[in-house]
Amino acid sequence: SYVILSPCVGEKAGECVDVCPVDCIEEVEDQYLINPEICIDCGACQVVCPVDAIEEEYELTPEQMPYLKKAEEYFGIE
Ligand code: SF4
Repeated sequence: SYVILSPCVGEKAGECVDVCPVDCIEEVEDQYLINPEICIDCGACQVVCPVDAIEEEYELTPEQMPYLKKAEEYFGIE
C-alpha cells in the first residue's frame, strides 16, 4: 500500500482524499492517513500530493516506517 509521510504533518493539503478511488484516506489531527488494508496501490494520491508526502510501502526507509505503524494503529490493523 501507499503511506503518507512527514511532509503531510501540519500541511494536510488534502488533494489525495479527492482522487482516491476507494476512499481509504482519512484525516486525523496532524495529517492524513491511508488505510493499508483498503488501498489498491493505484498511485493516484502520490501524483497529486503538492508536498510529495506519499510513498509506496516497499520504498520506505527505516526512519519512515513509523508512519506505516501510525496508519496501522489508527485503522486497527495488527
Ligand atoms: Fe487511494 Fe490509490 Fe492512494 Fe491507495 S494509492 S490511497 S487507493 S489513491
